[in-house]
Amino acid sequence: GSTIGILGGGQLGRMLALAAAQLGYRCHVYAPPGDNVAAEVCAEATEAAWDDEAALARFSAACDVVTYEFENVPVDPLGLLPADHLAPGLAALEIAQDRLREKDFVEGLGGRPAPYCPVDDADDLGVALHAIGLPGILKTRREGYDGKGQWRLNTPEDVAALDLSAGGYVYEGLVRFAAEFSVILVRGRDGAVRFWDSTHNVHEGGILATSTLPAGPLIEGQVAQARELAVQVAKQLDYVGVLTCEFFAGADGPVFNEMAPRVHNSGHWTSEGAVTSQFANHIRAICGLPLGDTATRALPVIMRNLLGDDVADPVGLLADGAAQLHLYGKGDARDGRKMGHVTRIG
Ligand code: ATP
Ligand code: MG
Ligand code: MG
Repeated sequence: GSTIGILGGGQLGRMLALAAAQLGYRCHVYAPPGDNVAAEVCAEATEAAWDDEAALARFSAACDVVTYEFENVPVDPLGLLPADHLAPGLAALEIAQDRLREKDFVEGLGGRPAPYCPVDDADDLGVALHAIGLPGILKTRREGYDGKGQWRLNTPEDVAALDLSAGGYVYEGLVRFAAEFSVILVRGRDGAVRFWDSTHNVHEGGILATSTLPAGPLIEGQVAQARELAVQVAKQLDYVGVLTCEFFAGADGPVFNEMAPRVHNSGHWTSEGAVTSQFANHIRAICGLPLGDTATRALPVIMRNLLGDDVADPVGLLADGAAQLHLYGKGDARDGRKMGHVTRIG
């Protein structure tokens, strides 16, 4: 059979590899040495630095197609791979790994992000605060996830306490939203697009806690407009695979938050709750296969993340026989990191 290469060794890569195996593919994961939970379910693993060009070239040559489960892979070394080998392509990766470029790009397509300004030093922040005001959030342009690399600014004292010496930030106004949701779509090599239902996503401390359906009338009323934008993003990037766009449901319609050029935590419910999961459809798309039906199987749907010590008692988590438990096999529950999730459908 054919071999699928996956850049990144986290739980998303692990779940992609499991879906690929169901379709008869072998997977080869490439990730820096460390907690590579995808490797455990892949036929092959290369542990090497992201910029190890020789290792990347060998990995790419051993794979029929290469995808990524993590958007912070340096793009320069990947530029050496044959362009049609990488799905989604390099343009999507390049834009989605930089919050500033991402917001500029989406605004250019008619999308509406929160008001934002680039910030590299204290003068820039002064300009940004003058234009946008407090409260707001300073975010690193690159590398942030699960709310890391973000500082909430409520008062002038918060501003004075900042150390901006690293540069490379974006300041954005705080959106007073009533709810959050994401649009998850899959686009095939032939341009066909399908959407999953948009869940209501609740974050705690900057980390996704739950995704639920039905999402409620506020979100349901804004999904069509949000989908239109997400499709524009996908078309513009000639996108192949699963694409996620996160939105705030505000009083005046959807506000774009960020995008992820990959399967997404808020789509984990699709493993049991949709006819075809985000993982299976991502594999179908990158392999040029027909896309599967994305319809929701039964309502209601709830997905709850398990962080840190939430997984200390796996047997207890299995007590509810109607729920499905996913554990990622991470050895170390430090910092309340994502260790697994449970879904309950219908
Ligand atoms: P992810 O793990 O989704 O990649 P991230 O670290 O990239 O997260 P964001 O999505 O930018 O972070 O922010 C995390 C959460 O913080 C959001 O889902 C939202 O709840 C809150 N948040 C971020 N930006 C804003 C904003 N401008 N106004 C209000 N809330 C915000
Ligand atoms: Mg993010
Ligand atoms: Mg986010």
